[in-house]
Amino acid sequence: MYNRILIANRGEIALRVMRACKEMGIETVAVFSEADRGASYVQLADEAYCLGGPRSVDSYLKIREIIAAAEVSGAEAIHPGFGFLSENAHFNEVCRDSGIDFIGPTPDAMQKLGDKNTARSMAVNSKVPVVPGSDGLVEDYSAAVKAAKDIGFPVLIKATAGGGGKGMRIATDEKTLETAIEQAMLEAQAAFGNPGVYLEKFVDRPRHVEVQIIGDQHGNICHLWERDCSTQRRHQKLIEESPSSRLPDKVRKELCESAVRMAKGADYYNAGTVEFIVDQSDNFYFIEVNARIQVEHPVTEMVTGIDLIKQQIRVAAGEKLPFKQKDIVCRGAAIECRINAEDPEKNFQPCPGTIEGMFVPGGYGVRFDSHTHAGYTVPPYYDSMIGKLIVHQPTREEAIACMVRCLRELRVKGIKTTADFQQTILKHPDFVAGTVDTKWVERVLLANNS
Ligand code: ADP
Ligand code: ADP
Ligand code: MG
Repeated sequence: MYNRILIANRGEIALRVMRACKEMGIETVAVFSEADRGASYVQLADEAYCLGGPRSVDSYLKIREIIAAAEVSGAEAIHPGFGFLSENAHFNEVCRDSGIDFIGPTPDAMQKLGDKNTARSMAVNSKVPVVPGSDGLVEDYSAAVKAAKDIGFPVLIKATAGGGGKGMRIATDEKTLETAIEQAMLEAQAAFGNPGVYLEKFVDRPRHVEVQIIGDQHGNICHLWERDCSTQRRHQKLIEESPSSRLPDKVRKELCESAVRMAKGADYYNAGTVEFIVDQSDNFYFIEVNARIQVEHPVTEMVTGIDLIKQQIRVAAGEKLPFKQKDIVCRGAAIECRINAEDPEKNFQPCPGTIEGMFVPGGYGVRFDSHTHAGYTVPPYYDSMIGKLIVHQPTREEAIACMVRCLRELRVKGIKTTADFQQTILKHPDFVAGTVDTKWVERVLLANNS
């Protein structure tokens, strides 16, 4: 096992990884930007290195500085968290070339699965259903028109390098397709440095259901059941839960087995997520793989009792998975609310600033994963998530009641947060009934102002 791990990330996930390391008796090395100098995870680390200025291009994305910090501190492995360099196959490779273990899949698996269009064809090869779409990337408008006519409008134009809910556009007819294709390619080039786009049929009112997988370097791979992340705004998740509340058992089983098949086909190891959309008739279609730990991993930890970060570290170090598929039981119901420093009244505009006071809820089955505290200043440079409230209860009904209670108790003074908006969602009869689809928030709650 490792003696020392460097965490190439910030905020909540940096602290989450650090806590797992400490419990495993592993020393931790933090890296930080000038904007994060006083942060709790920097203080709690055994060693910490400043990477540079506040902007992520000057700090959290600087591969050379991160590798230097690992070498100087003698870290044997790097955990990349999520966002930033976590899905960067080049960084992954540089770590390995420098003799440092990257806690994640191989660069090759990461590269292939990270390209959404390539991942789509790998799904097809593994006999996993995909959303009807173009046969590979579309080069120009005429190719797009031909593909769209075969698929049928409306279609979704997706950037093959896209992520984080960015790089997607709907076209409802041939006319809107022309401008949409041009703009999508320009945007993809600007945002991801890769103009490649492909088309998918726009599935009406789908649910987003994803499967957590974990594999070791000895060919063992298991799924840890599914998460429903249908409560989204602008393709970004707000609430996640496990298990999915309305999935027939047979579909659930097929979905989870498809995810494992897909991972095996890619020679995948470490933690990963296979994302699907499920239509109104419970047909499921692969959309993408996230070759990293995800924001919403705690709901899976709560229902399975498996610490995913510790497991990631163990398999990276070469250990075998300590369980078999049949041992992984999903117990009770878990829900996570992302608490963002945003103002729902002002179109979810980010609200950085100083937290003057804070009260964090507790009690049976309650977990708050956050790096924030009274006196902490949320910097304006990064994403606005300040914490994740997670509850685990015997039933979904009880989990909802517990989450509503916790959201009422949570107090964050000095900045605006999404906590009240989350409460509105949880109390809504559609959410309680489990019928929310990925456009529900915008259609039902924000119809007048978004
Ligand atoms: P998850 O898939 O883990 O639920 P997200 O897709 O929201 O979470 O991504 C995790 C974090 O990484 C978020 O902060 C998101 O903004 C960021 N992120 C993911 N992919 C990209 C990308 N390609 N470009 C910029 N940010 C990204
Ligand atoms: P990202 O890499 O940005 O996470 P995804 O491909 O995972 O992109 O899609 C993000 C979200 O967009 C999904 O959770 C779903 O809400 C919506 N979405 C993706 N593909 C489709 C589709 N073909 N039809 C309808 N909605 C879709
Ligand atoms: Mg996704």
